[in-house]
Amino acid sequence: MTTYLLRHGLLVGPDSTRVGDLLISDGRIAEVAASINAPAGATVIDVEGRWVGPGFVDLHTHLREPGQEAAETIESGAVAGAVGGYCALVAMPNTEPALDNVALVSYVLDQGARTPVDVAVAGAITQGREGRHLAPLAEMAALGVRIFTDDGTGVQDPSVMRRALDYARPLRVRLAQHCEDEALAAGGSMNEGVLSSRLGLVGRPALAEELMVMRDIELVRLTGGAVHFLHLSTSRSVALVSAARSEGLDVTCEVTPHHLTLDETFCAGFDAQFKVHPPLRTSSDVMALRQALRQGLFDAVATDHAPHSPELKDRAFDEAPAGMLGLEHAATLTYQALGTDECDPVKFYSVLSRGPARVAQLRASDQRIRLGAHGGDLRVGEDANITVFDPRVEWTARREDLHSRARNTPYDGRQLRGRVTTTIAKGQLVVHEGGLQ
Ligand SMILES: [Zn+2]
Repeated sequence: MTTYLLRHGLLVGPDSTRVGDLLISDGRIAEVAASINAPAGATVIDVEGRWVGPGFVDLHTHLREPGQEAAETIESGAVAGAVGGYCALVAMPNTEPALDNVALVSYVLDQGARTPVDVAVAGAITQGREGRHLAPLAEMAALGVRIFTDDGTGVQDPSVMRRALDYARPLRVRLAQHCEDEALAAGGSMNEGVLSSRLGLVGRPALAEELMVMRDIELVRLTGGAVHFLHLSTSRSVALVSAARSEGLDVTCEVTPHHLTLDETFCAGFDAQFKVHPPLRTSSDVMALRQALRQGLFDAVATDHAPHSPELKDRAFDEAPAGMLGLEHAATLTYQALGTDECDPVKFYSVLSRGPARVAQLRASDQRIRLGAHGGDLRVGEDANITVFDPRVEWTARREDLHSRARNTPYDGRQLRGRVTTTIAKGQLVVHEGGLQ
């Protein structure tokens, strides 16, 4: 395997930063010091002024395979992820058919192993994600599945969710919930409020999300189980989860780049690129999410990368599928949400790498099957999954530059600051100066 020397970077540890060199050899971190002499044959990469930290981990990637390969494949999604700085992705199970059994989970793990990054799998909680009968959680857990979710929808029936929590607890796995009460959200295509009324669109109320957050917090209290709240989008959800955590309940949560940087007013042009579930909310919700991010409430920024083919996404706003691409812009948008000039690199790598690695049980101390360790401390001996971010680069997001098979980004033409320049995944240089190697 190749040897790489990253020179003069800002090395971002779990609590502090320092300027130094990092040597990678045979897939592991071989040395960390103020200055390292390049061994013969090493590829030297000058990272002066750039941040060097553990590779990003996405808790929420829709890879669309099997079933919707026109939108994305495991391979194309993995490449888009690497360009965005991701060394590990958690593949969501709302494929066609759903990842609700050992054969399909094995298929995705096998395909994922052939890509440049680690692909973990989230299994479905219920058979076919239909919300009625539990999927074989124990069998999938034996393959290494650590997160289960019916994402795309939430588990609507509280008795099913209660039983799933009871089954999950001894397996030491976490249930992840897409919080939306379907009865309340039915037929809605954007946030419910004054703006949806003015536009004549049916709304999805904040309460649809908050009711399920409340319910699951109470089910965690009842069962002693563990829930991860996917893509929280309202200020009330943030307050509920914050209170539950201060009580010591085992709840974790994530926020998406789009809910941190876009509000409902983007829907006013009826452009379906801005249609997503849960919907873009009010500007005061965006402010509350950003504040919670800075205060450390969110374990992770997770992309909810949701590729859709143009034939579907170009439909009218109320008919188009919900979801937008995320992998290739997430780090930059997280940097923006953390306040660019005030952005603390420790916090940045905490929500993009260390936090999600903890939730997905991908750290060195976790029992992993077939996957490398992620979210490390930049210590000698750790698996070399490393992402370099340059906080100074100014660039413009362009649809035609995407590596994803789909094109449905809401950020086309947006001026951005800060960019992933280098991704070393599984010990190999996969992306450098923004381009595939
Ligand atoms: Zn979802």
